[in-house]
Amino acid sequence: MTTSTPGSARLLEGGPIADEIRLAVAEDVARFRDTRGRPPGLRVLIVGKDAPSMVYLERILRGCAKVGIDADFVELDGEATEGRVTAAVGALNEDPVVDGVIVQMPLPPTIRLRAVIDAIDPAKDIDGIHPLNAGLLRLGYDGFLPATAHAAVEILRRSGIEIEGREAVVIGRSAVVGMPAAFLLVKEDATVTVCHSRTIDLAGHVARADIVVVAAGHPGLVTGAMLKPGAVVVDVGINVVDGRIVGDVDFASAVTVASAITPVPGGVGPLTNAILLTHLIRAAERQPARPPATPTAPAPRPATFGGDR
Ligand code: NAP
Repeated sequence: MTTSTPGSARLLEGGPIADEIRLAVAEDVARFRDTRGRPPGLRVLIVGKDAPSMVYLERILRGCAKVGIDADFVELDGEATEGRVTAAVGALNEDPVVDGVIVQMPLPPTIRLRAVIDAIDPAKDIDGIHPLNAGLLRLGYDGFLPATAHAAVEILRRSGIEIEGREAVVIGRSAVVGMPAAFLLVKEDATVTVCHSRTIDLAGHVARADIVVVAAGHPGLVTGAMLKPGAVVVDVGINVVDGRIVGDVDFASAVTVASAITPVPGGVGPLTNAILLTHLIRAAERQPARPPATPTAPAPRPATFGGDR
């Protein structure tokens, strides 16, 4: 779904696409419930409360409740040891009513991220952070994708932007956004350049790009003057500047040069949570169906005397 302003780029808005996805997810949830006798289940593990995490968490739980997903969080205090955290992940892996597990980042500095990520069952890793899922993506196989990277490419696909054969530049090479977005664009047959903080002549790379995906966490990194006229810009960045949320792209200048651009807020962000729900449905459908619990045998009736009718 897009809107455009005369003389400026089409706005690629994530909200309407997210609404469409949620409608489809609600139907999938109802079907799953009918066949399995329970709703799909999501658990978010939080280690130590911090305000941004809680906002993110509330948004996920609200989104899940609206479509009938059984979502909840498991909370450990900020002093929890790595062993306790990995044990909590292990318990969620084993829980038959939990289909998807998300570990809320950042973790306290005393806990090794890698140890926690490795503990997640890849079949429940709906945000695609386990090395197995990263490897599947790298090989072009079907695994769970990091939701943000998936959303960044999905917004292009669902907006009818041609990707095949185009020059794409991804700015950022993180494991959760930049690299998976680059691999997804390669899978869609774009020719992809990945830029990062050590890239020499970032502007030169951006100037050649038909599609620019920016995920650097650096407000104003890409300006309209850097863009090829008619380029499509996906701004993944989320930064707070003077109390306002802005992306990594200088929107005011970019919107006059690009042919299409995602706004921040309102672009990739709203789509990310909806995409995560589709991953949960997929995980739930892949979990082995478990037979309903065997009804317990009726308790022997007390012996009666004098005729038992
Ligand atoms: P990250 O782990 O900090 O990675 C940032 C990447 O950008 C790194 O690869 C870094 O290069 C590169 N970079 C930083 N400054 C740069 C510069 N001046 N020029 C070129 N490259 C530069 O961040 P992330 O987790 O990938 O997140 C990226 C952005 O997306 C953040 O703003 C984050 O808030 C946002 N985000 C949005 C969503 C959403 O749903 N929309 C979800 C997650 C994250 P090096 O590798 O060389 O350090």
